[in-house]
Amino acid sequence: MHAQKHNLLVFADGGFDRLALRRADDNWLEAQLSDAATRFVPVAGEDSLLSADGEPLILGAHKAEALRASAQATVLLGEYRGQVCFALGLAPDAPLPAGTVRSNLRPQFGVLEDDALALLGYARAMVHWHAHNRYCGKCGAPTQSRRAGHELHCTRCGNTLYPRVNPAVIMLVTHGERCLLGRQPEWAANRFSTLAGFVEPGENLEAALRREIREETNIRVGRAHYLRSQPWPYPASLMLGFRAEAESTEIRCNDGELAEARWFSRADIAAGLRDGSLALSLPGSSSHALIREWFEEAPGFVLSVTANTR
Ligand SMILES: [Zn+2]
Repeated sequence: MHAQKHNLLVFADGGFDRLALRRADDNWLEAQLSDAATRFVPVAGEDSLLSADGEPLILGAHKAEALRASAQATVLLGEYRGQVCFALGLAPDAPLPAGTVRSNLRPQFGVLEDDALALLGYARAMVHWHAHNRYCGKCGAPTQSRRAGHELHCTRCGNTLYPRVNPAVIMLVTHGERCLLGRQPEWAANRFSTLAGFVEPGENLEAALRREIREETNIRVGRAHYLRSQPWPYPASLMLGFRAEAESTEIRCNDGELAEARWFSRADIAAGLRDGSLALSLPGSSSHALIREWFEEAPGFVLSVTANTR
């Protein structure tokens, strides 16, 4: 659809100003909310929204009026393409403008522009946080939005909640010229991905990585190094990407999280993608980026980014 170059990772950097210093400025916020130039990004339940022509649904103040009245959350997102934008958290069954398309955004990877995807990802994460924190976890009283939707404050005990991000490690484990990929039980029989798992309390990233790999495949890893991170709004993860070197090779899927794990050479991956016996995660995901980067380190290997998009 667009000719522009896409980032290695979607959602990673929208390049827009979040206007964080304005969040506590009530006069400024009030002025923005009554300004006809302000834009609104509705999210219905867990669904991001696109217009009938496939663009992000970003509404002007007038068109957003009815939705604003019924919104369960209003959150300042920042300045996007020169306009101040707020997310609107709507009920899953809220009436939407004619032609609106609901999306989990995955089919939009590599289709929508990077800043648009980052904005929509940010909006869905903030709206999800609001929808799941309507009551105080400490005393059960309703919470109230503050600081332009970036804090929730308990109306009884004063407890303050902040938007939460769940760190997860995602890693490409290599051994010599092969890499380790796994398949979750609910996935299609040909789909394989890098290993990943959430960081637990009391654990640093290195320990989480070693534990996850050991639990899921029984492989011991030695050296590991961090590469890059990606916000992943399904619903609120931060994927921390690593490369790790295996010190053992015998696979045993221990914990039931994986149906299967296998060592793949570059030639195995190339052949599998060619004949359809292998599908990787979508381009734009951390998993795809980790595999592609390793794959293309060997001369003559170029991972087709379109062969597995579906
Ligand atoms: Zn409370």
